[in-house]
Amino acid sequence: MVHAPSRPTPGLPPVRVNLYSDTQTRPTQAMKAAMLEAEVGDEQAGLDPTIDALCDRMAALLGKEAAIFLPSGTMCNQVAILTHCRPGDAVLAHRTAHILTAEGGGAAALTGAQIMPLEGEGGQYTADTLLAAFNGGSRYDMPQTLVEVEQTANLGGGTVWPLAALNAVADLAHARGIATHMDGARLMNAVVAAGVPAHEMAAGYDSVWLDFTKGLGAPLGAVLCGSAAFIDRAWRWKQRLGGSLRQGGICAAACLYALDHNIDRLADDHDNARVLARGLAQIPGLAVQSPQTNLVFFDTTGTGRNASDIAGALRQLGVMVSVMGTYRGRACTHLDVTRAQVDEAVAAMQQVLAA
Ligand SMILES: *Cc1c(COP(=O)(O)O)cnc(C)c1O
Repeated sequence: MVHAPSRPTPGLPPVRVNLYSDTQTRPTQAMKAAMLEAEVGDEQAGLDPTIDALCDRMAALLGKEAAIFLPSGTMCNQVAILTHCRPGDAVLAHRTAHILTAEGGGAAALTGAQIMPLEGEGGQYTADTLLAAFNGGSRYDMPQTLVEVEQTANLGGGTVWPLAALNAVADLAHARGIATHMDGARLMNAVVAAGVPAHEMAAGYDSVWLDFTKGLGAPLGAVLCGSAAFIDRAWRWKQRLGGSLRQGGICAAACLYALDHNIDRLADDHDNARVLARGLAQIPGLAVQSPQTNLVFFDTTGTGRNASDIAGALRQLGVMVSVMGTYRGRACTHLDVTRAQVDEAVAAMQQVLAA
């Protein structure tokens, strides 16, 4: 992944349409007002009522006994792996999983765990693929202790795991005594797209988390959920990693605000993504993956130009997209992108590829 700055860059026009990521949203005045009014206390000492309220609400939403507030989604994944696994253990995950491609080798560096990459279309693998990857559990084998899925699968195209597939994978893992973890960075996008409640999607998973900075508009925060015993053990890792906070309720208030105001509207982002994909697909040479949620992936091979060349030309026109591979780009809709801006982005792409 190539990371682009959103600050004013000398020699470049201002960003008019930011399709770079749903992480680039800015908190609104109303969200900031909720933050200012938050009742707060020392979270490390268990005294922040707003964080407690958020955790209670998230445990109920995801159908788990308990929850823990963490600064970021990456910390949710790493705390979960630390809590589930021991050094030398293996985590089975899709080869494009965020834990494998975008967390700095955290599972190896922190837990001493290795990740076994699984193949499959759209960032998902089947129960059969998982079954074939299980080892015999002999003393020669690495202990396989965790199975991970990503809902939605980011690099797979923002795809939604069907409920039956989630359950098939979880059942297979549990039948072998293997724990299950759901990276739910964009879980609510999946919930809104599929019309399946979050607690049903997460039912087969021993741990699951939601990111508040992926299209939900909060400046920071993610909540990891699981059994009361799991969350107790996760707290030790939160403390060790320096993730225990003080008056963190000021941030949890933004997350509560997001739960109240920014979930249902994810459907607008999905509509905008479909409009964007249809517009881009009309342009000769571009191959567009049909979006299931708010991520639109396109392949530039047929244009004869690579993705970073095209992204650079778009940026000259004030439109920012991200580069995910030599010929693969991603445009992401979110609450700071309007339908008019989607149209502007399509027009900019037409102009770039007509040149
Ligand atoms: C963004 C993302 C993460 C990490 O979340 P941060 O809040 O950026 O640390 C993990 N998994 C997936 C699928 C993501 O898209």
